[in-house]
Amino acid sequence: MKFPRFSAGSALALLGLLMVAVPTAQAWTGMGPKWPTNTNKYDKSGLPSNWQSVADYSAQQWTNVSPSPFTWTSDGASNNDLVRGNIDGGGRTLATTTIYYSGTRITRFVMKFDTSENWYLGSGSPASNQVDGRSVGTHEFGHAHGQGHAQTQYCSGSGSATLCPYYTMGSTWARSLETDDRNGINTLYP
Ligand SMILES: [Zn+2]
Repeated sequence: MKFPRFSAGSALALLGLLMVAVPTAQAWTGMGPKWPTNTNKYDKSGLPSNWQSVADYSAQQWTNVSPSPFTWTSDGASNNDLVRGNIDGGGRTLATTTIYYSGTRITRFVMKFDTSENWYLGSGSPASNQVDGRSVGTHEFGHAHGQGHAQTQYCSGSGSATLCPYYTMGSTWARSLETDDRNGINTLYP
């Protein structure tokens, strides 16, 4: 049996508050279930080509983490689907990752990017009213391997963990993983 785990909990929302950043190595949270293997696949074939580049970049950020052996590879036969679709009509939720699991093992995920947002899909700088695909994709792939959000008291925008639950319009800081993000995947997949 497969059970949908969450969707709203995986959402990014707009940064609308100012908080003090407190450096820490323990802000990340696990979601419980994890993949039983260190090598896992995603299917980007349902995305337009410019979105496929975003998906590959986002997955690679987590594959690159050392010493964790966890690896994402693209495979059109995988049922870990990346899709575009309406979520909330351009509201605060930018993307969702729904995890399916059995016991303590993740069995599948579906990652959806909201078609109603004003996306920037390049590797340069988004405009101030755009949502950066690489930032949101990297965040969502963190959920896809089972990692939860960083605790909000440690999130202040630029320089914060990619798995902070808030995104700042026009920003790219979530493209790169921070120590807290890496600690999460290194702990889940040592
Ligand atoms: Zn999230």
